[in-house]
Amino acid sequence: DHRVPPAIVAIDMQGKLKKIASGKVRDLFEVDDEKLLFDASETVMKNGIPEKGVLLTKMSVYWLRYLQDRISDLKTHFLSLDLPSSLACLPSDLYESIQSRSMLVRRLKMFPIESIVRGYLTGTAWAEYSTSKTVNGIPLPAGLEYGQKLPSPMWTPSTKAGLGDKDENITRKQAYGLVGEEVGKKIEKLSLEIYDIAAKRTEEAGIILADTKFEFGTDGEDLVLADEVLTPDSSRFWIRDTWEQNLGQAQPSFDKQHLRDWLSAIGLKGKESIMIPEDVVMKTAALYQEACKKLIG
Ligand code: ATP
Ligand code: MG
Repeated sequence: DHRVPPAIVAIDMQGKLKKIASGKVRDLFEVDDEKLLFDASETVMKNGIPEKGVLLTKMSVYWLRYLQDRISDLKTHFLSLDLPSSLACLPSDLYESIQSRSMLVRRLKMFPIESIVRGYLTGTAWAEYSTSKTVNGIPLPAGLEYGQKLPSPMWTPSTKAGLGDKDENITRKQAYGLVGEEVGKKIEKLSLEIYDIAAKRTEEAGIILADTKFEFGTDGEDLVLADEVLTPDSSRFWIRDTWEQNLGQAQPSFDKQHLRDWLSAIGLKGKESIMIPEDVVMKTAALYQEACKKLIG
């Protein structure tokens, strides 16, 4: 039985900040009308991957700065790694643990799509391709293998489902229906540009960025890159040097695929209150750390 009582990891801000949302892997706290604390706190799986929140935050911040330096008019939600002063009175161990896995971000109105970019054929794109030779409705050449590099990176948006529901791939037209054509086109262009820059960087670090998911919001004027960015949770990171020899089969990876495989092997649907076996925890933790080391040093 992998289900355990949620009390085990109840960790919070001791009422100092109001929680406004809880996602699968993080909590959002209100700082004021314009700011949020984005806390990668491991809310769903009850014995989380050690230091995962810390690594995800480190990587997101690394990428947000990296991209900011390379795309001059890019707006991102990142503000700082400082905690709001209202938390100063927390016990120091709690304060430090929150600080290590949180970032202060601009509070945005989020667009209701996941902006996925794929450079390689895998996941739900492979499932669609193998039945219809299309990806998000777009025809592709016949004869592509699982894991193969796509002729060029593709923007394949999906819906943004709530906790426990599945995101659905949608066509470009359907995405325009959700966010408007003008915004949709901007999101596509920027996502492809970011993918390109990031894929070059990961390649140098021995990692193939097979696919990745972005989320965007608006500050009322411009499009703003939000959420976590280019982490092993939001991306598939494959090992460059073994990619070719593994074409057509599962790719060795630095991402959460091990966790996905374990979850589907035990047939769990919802992910609430799961106790993950120690070996899966340790393996995933080691891979996250290695990916982080390769990229950031
Ligand atoms: P998953 O990423 O696993 O699909 P999720 O997106 O439901 O799950 P989380 O990623 O844990 O949940 O939670 C982050 C939530 O915060 C998302 O709903 C995301 O859209 C939202 N968000 C991210 N950045 C901002 C921001 N700057 N302002 C407001 N909301 C944000
Ligand atoms: Mg998310």
